[in-house]
Amino acid sequence: MRWHPKVLIGRNEIEDAVARLASEIQRDYRGKQPLLIGVLKGSFVFMADLIRQLDLPVELDFAVLSSYGSAKETSSRVRLVQGLTRPIRDKDIIVVEDIVDTGLTVSFLLDHLRSKKPASMKLCALMDKPSRRRVLVPIDYLGFTLPDRFVVGYGLDLDERFRYLPDICLLEEQT
Ligand code: 5GP
Repeated sequence: MRWHPKVLIGRNEIEDAVARLASEIQRDYRGKQPLLIGVLKGSFVFMADLIRQLDLPVELDFAVLSSYGSAKETSSRVRLVQGLTRPIRDKDIIVVEDIVDTGLTVSFLLDHLRSKKPASMKLCALMDKPSRRRVLVPIDYLGFTLPDRFVVGYGLDLDERFRYLPDICLLEEQT
């Protein structure tokens, strides 16, 4: 199959949203040193842009989860492939996710992290597809609400392709 990416959310709009999210986080965490936990691989571009807009001495860690296999369909089985490198007890945690779809992936991670007794925990997601939600996931900082369409770019892939695209794109089939 040949796919042709079509821009849904352009880089300037993404930049504005990231700046807005950073200022919301900064307002809430003034004087604190939150630990941002990125969900790999999809959130790595978002995370990199977000921390550079934040005027806060943040710490970083990453968790690798697998939910989607190699297709566009959601699998309800979520697995922690690689966990955190350091303890999070008594820390102020902000989980940074690229997109919340059914909610299964991030709610699995939030449950896992909660059991490690952080001081506080919030969720920052660049995108939300609420129409496909299967579990309730409160998003504290949200960039965009999307319709039920599969997107790539800005870190998000289809079978490991298209992560490098600077815009968030839809894929159109080419014959
Ligand atoms: P959920 O568990 O909420 O259904 O899915 C969350 C994960 O599935 C995201 O972190 C992301 O990796 C992947 N995902 C969900 N929707 C999309 C999408 O539209 N495009 C891409 N590339 N990945 C998605």
